[in-house]
Amino acid sequence: MLPEGDPFAKEDLQQDDEQALEILDDYFAGAESAKRTARIAQIALGSRHNRRAGELLLRIASTGRTKTNVDRNLRRCIHKAGVTMPVDFVLVPTTVQILKPKLRIDNVFWPTLSMKSWVSVLAESCPQVLLGGFRLEESEKWRNLFGWFWDRFEGVDRGHPIYEFGCDRTCCIPIMVHGDEGRGLRSQAFMVESWQFVISHLGPFTTNTSGHSFTSRLLFTCISSKLFDGEKTLRDLNDEFAKQLRSMFFEGVQVGNHVIRLIWIATKGDWPFLRKACSLFTGFTSLRICHLCSGQDWWRYDSDAPWKLAENRPGESPFKPEGNPFAIVPGGDSPNRIRPDMVHTFHIGFGVDLAASFVVWLCKLGKLGSNGRPRQSFDDKLSLAYSTFREYCHIHKRFTACDHWSMKKLGMTSTNDFPTSLGGKGHDTGVVCRWLDSFLRSIASW
Ligand SMILES: [Zn+2]
Repeated sequence: MLPEGDPFAKEDLQQDDEQALEILDDYFAGAESAKRTARIAQIALGSRHNRRAGELLLRIASTGRTKTNVDRNLRRCIHKAGVTMPVDFVLVPTTVQILKPKLRIDNVFWPTLSMKSWVSVLAESCPQVLLGGFRLEESEKWRNLFGWFWDRFEGVDRGHPIYEFGCDRTCCIPIMVHGDEGRGLRSQAFMVESWQFVISHLGPFTTNTSGHSFTSRLLFTCISSKLFDGEKTLRDLNDEFAKQLRSMFFEGVQVGNHVIRLIWIATKGDWPFLRKACSLFTGFTSLRICHLCSGQDWWRYDSDAPWKLAENRPGESPFKPEGNPFAIVPGGDSPNRIRPDMVHTFHIGFGVDLAASFVVWLCKLGKLGSNGRPRQSFDDKLSLAYSTFREYCHIHKRFTACDHWSMKKLGMTSTNDFPTSLGGKGHDTGVVCRWLDSFLRSIASW
């Protein structure tokens, strides 16, 4: 029986169930080929069916006059699809912004997945995922593995609170938080937050992203960013995330005869995610770029380069006044445990500067872009350099999004200016670096 005034009126509900089935069908059929959870989230906003999945989540959350309603509606949708795992929800009271039909702020209980329940369910149904590939009864093996990890890790992060805590580290499983605010069609942002075992179920000698993303990332929550009520929504969700991470450290979960603790060692993700989730005022489009140091000029390599000086690392707190929600997690107050991703750091960070500078420098040396004629403009040289690059792409079957090179395209205002772009996409940085590598080898005799 549906309570009166339930937004899920009977007819609506039937329709929603059908929709849910359709969405979940798509979702799981598509999952086979999808490489990463975040990618799925991006796709979710791109296709007609899956856009409904986002709306469905919202509708479910909006029924939250009482927690039971939300729970029931969500469970009903998923049960019908026959793809359940009995992981408990933790419903987080928060507010979301609804744009249509007219702008308003709604109180909702947003669904998140309980970490504690994840551990219990995994221990029961697939302990290998939890225990670095071992079965629960092979306790000597997995305890050796985790003991070995923490001994090694001390060389990486000696200051981590686990080394003072005095618990049995052989039952401590290292994890990282992963987040991605993917952008799909029409630049609709979609936030996915998950956590990940540092040691893969395939063992410690493979990367922890090996295998399908559903086997390596455990979802905490996801939400369309257009629902964000300013910074409050994500803050509320992350306060809950942090609370759970903290409890996984101090209380852990009873599994058989063992108290298993999940130990957070770092948060990783793209910079837009890190900035939002950890309340950083730094970022690649911010005045201060790096939360790990307050030095500006990365290209300086002299001994007193600003970023090398101890007082600039991390320098003044990179956190906004309201503070990092993850600071309550043991070790969570350190900016050093917030790890930027390679793409923003290298490919669209200093790597693109480096690659473009190299092209410009080689043109200036006359090693690239010279046709032997004396009165070549610098744009002519860049254009010729581009032809050489294109030839390489053609021969080595590499795709590039760069369509031509000129001073303007490379972001130079004069021939003495540092270039800041390759006029392509993040991917092009790697392609240009490969090309430069092979080009420099070919002329290595000079
Ligand atoms: Zn830095």
